[in-house]
Amino acid sequence: MELLAEENITLGKSVFDSPNNINLILHSNKASQVDGTSWNGCTVASIEYLCSDGTTNHNYGKAVNNGDGTHTQTCSICSSTKVERCHGGEATCQKIAVCAVCGKEYGELSDHIIDPATGYCKFGCGKWMATFTIEQSGTITYHMNMSIFQNKDLEDGAIVKLLADEYFFGWGISGNYTLDMNGYNLTKDRYSLFAGTEPETEQKLHLKNDGGNRSTIPFIRVNNCTLNIEEKVDVAAMILFYTSCTVDLSKADFTTCELNLNLDGCNTSQFVLGNYAIYDTNGNIVTGELIKGLTYTIK
Ligand SMILES: [Zn+2]
Ligand SMILES: [Zn+2]
Ligand SMILES: [Zn+2]
Repeated sequence: MELLAEENITLGKSVFDSPNNINLILHSNKASQVDGTSWNGCTVASIEYLCSDGTTNHNYGKAVNNGDGTHTQTCSICSSTKVERCHGGEATCQKIAVCAVCGKEYGELSDHIIDPATGYCKFGCGKWMATFTIEQSGTITYHMNMSIFQNKDLEDGAIVKLLADEYFFGWGISGNYTLDMNGYNLTKDRYSLFAGTEPETEQKLHLKNDGGNRSTIPFIRVNNCTLNIEEKVDVAAMILFYTSCTVDLSKADFTTCELNLNLDGCNTSQFVLGNYAIYDTNGNIVTGELIKGLTYTIK
């Protein structure tokens, strides 16, 4: 933005964040360039002029709402105006915000926002929002967006429990935790579940299903992690990324799972196979080293 005024411009300290944060003070000879809270095409939070003593020591009267999300105050000393966009107050999902200055409603309704303590919209509209819970340190919290798991550490022994089918489980979760599918499914085709993070810290993921239905995970990417799969969890495909990965299938009861490797030096000894075996594409049971780039089947 080019500043055209010759003198007496004051810009708020947040000027570089966004024009929305600028409180613009102009010399009164710039009044003809002002339209509401816009000056030279730049819309700011407020525009006022210097008072007759050359300062901003106006004596502003009551704010009058302009019907367009702004209000105007007029100085009793110099009669100049301060036009400001309405602000303050809180919009909810049912009611728009009330301006803290002029007392009139402005803006738009808020989206529903989850209350982590209840799983319902925090504004009391009754909308159920949670799609999973996290239980840790004896406390259950409700959540609806699995992207909260991006690079998030869960406490040791935490239990994540699905309350609905989930599109994406996120990745970069570290720690020792249980995912209870609770009869629901992960539904993204590829990398629907990232188990473990890439740094060399020990991580464990326990997959179980306390729900009535069987649960499906299309694809698990196992990073540096011990993965334990229990009953009623169907895993269609799995890819191992680190030689330190181990997979325990001693309680699993899925039918088949496609296995891919992204590393050399992986070995069938990394699997606790229980009733399963690992087969190559010719249908032969494989023991010992597994070869990067080949596809195996666990069944
Ligand atoms: Zn004044
Ligand atoms: Zn207002
Ligand atoms: Zn709501």
